Amino acid sequence: MIVSSKGIILKIFPYSNTSIICNVFTETYGKITLISKGVRKPKNPQLSILQPFHLLDLTFYYKKNRSMHILKEADITSDFSHLREDLSSIVFGSAINNIINRIFEEDFPNEVIFRLCTKSLDLLSKNLRNNKVIFIFFLYHLSKQLGFMPSYKSCNSCNQKFKNDAIFSSSLNALICDQCIIHQSMDLDFVIKFLTLQKIDLVNKTHINQIFEIDLSKDNLSELFNFLIAFMNSNINHMLKVNSIKEVTKFYHERN
Ligand SMILES: [Zn+2]
Repeated sequence: MIVSSKGIILKIFPYSNTSIICNVFTETYGKITLISKGVRKPKNPQLSILQPFHLLDLTFYYKKNRSMHILKEADITSDFSHLREDLSSIVFGSAINNIINRIFEEDFPNEVIFRLCTKSLDLLSKNLRNNKVIFIFFLYHLSKQLGFMPSYKSCNSCNQKFKNDAIFSSSLNALICDQCIIHQSMDLDFVIKFLTLQKIDLVNKTHINQIFEIDLSKDNLSELFNFLIAFMNSNINHMLKVNSIKEVTKFYHERN
């Protein structure tokens, strides 16, 4: 049947002599694979539309349980054009696309996560200096929507509310208090300062349009990033295979 949906192009690759295959995150059908036939013939305007990051109105021939669907038409809704003008924005935007492409199975729609992605790409294209904040918000709310809400208010071991710095325990995959550490600093464990714990609460409660009002220091951002990545790596299938996380990590750990 012929269907329509909004969709974000995650990745494209050439196929045969003239076609391309696109991994697309659609609003209505989840992640799908589309083939655009003949698009690489000379002067075909569709090729410039089918590019990563582009938000499109798509019409395609959809058959459930097929691994590939045939694209009929694509119109551009937003190209997030400023995102491509800044290296850091490209790195963060690519990480968002790669995460969605890796962790989602085909045909599992999630409109909330779709909106989270489009809004995050939109903010990356408009607020070039706040990329680290946008990505923290994206990671936190992606994990929460997938059903993995990190517990940050009380110790995973003794249940006492945090009053001091917490420790991320890699063996428990959770935050524990300084009274519950048994082994003296295991290699993969790290400290989350009490101030940063309070910031997690703000990231949780604040609407995406107001996230730049949260006062997040460089240390807050780097601790939050370490915590979310460690937490998601343990909980979310294929998260460890997202190569672009390595590139993003450099931005959180840079010292200037
Ligand atoms: Zn405890």
